[in-house]
Amino acid sequence: MPARLYVISGPSGVGKSTLIHQVRNTISDIGYTISHTSRPPRANEQNGKDYHFVDRGIFQQMIRDQAFVEWARVYDDFYGTSLAELDGQINQGLDVILDIDVQGARNIKNTFEKVTLIYILPPSFQTLEDRLRHRATDNETVIKKRLEKSVKELKNCEWYDYIIINNDLDEASKKLEAIITAQRCRSSQMIEAV
Ligand code: ADP
Ligand code: 5GP
Repeated sequence: MPARLYVISGPSGVGKSTLIHQVRNTISDIGYTISHTSRPPRANEQNGKDYHFVDRGIFQQMIRDQAFVEWARVYDDFYGTSLAELDGQINQGLDVILDIDVQGARNIKNTFEKVTLIYILPPSFQTLEDRLRHRATDNETVIKKRLEKSVKELKNCEWYDYIIINNDLDEASKKLEAIITAQRCRSSQMIEAV
């Protein structure tokens, strides 16, 4: 049965990685694609766990080799989901979560049939700024750029299937779990499965 892809997008610092981590602890049979990026790793990030960190030249060669199912320039760097990474998850019979930006979300929606789009919003712009600063992984220029972009991109949440406001982490995780569970119980999905 073809896998369902769950695309999670939202502004930087809203809590996407945290939510995905939490949900993967409760729903065991769901995969996750580790993206490639040309961005340098943050102090707490590990190559092959958080991202596959590659230099720009390698990333561009991968584009030419058609190694990506989708890729985008986000902020000043390249980010992409490799075909090998996605296939690796799907071939294990897993549904897959992708943490990708709105350009990637559009591409995945246009390429695959079974896609659920979920947008994560902060309770307020101030909370988003506080989280980005509290995370303490980015310098002031990077934080400013990310905050500006998040305002510009907010309207995109309209074309997503679901919106979750990440105020209380446990509550938001439960909502994400509920969306995945509900998708799995859809009659079309159940009829396909039996
Ligand atoms: P993203 O992946 O969207 O960039 P992160 O998952 O790195 O965001 O979260 C940004 C920061 O906000 C982290 O320090 C994380 O611990 C914190 N955080 C995430 N969700 C919540 C929440 N519901 N309440 C308070 N802090 C949160
Ligand atoms: P960060 O640098 O904060 O880890 O991620 C920046 C942005 O890039 C986030 O919006 C994240 O969702 C997005 N992103 C991460 N991986 C990919 C990917 O493989 N493809 C696309 N299109 N966006 C990605």
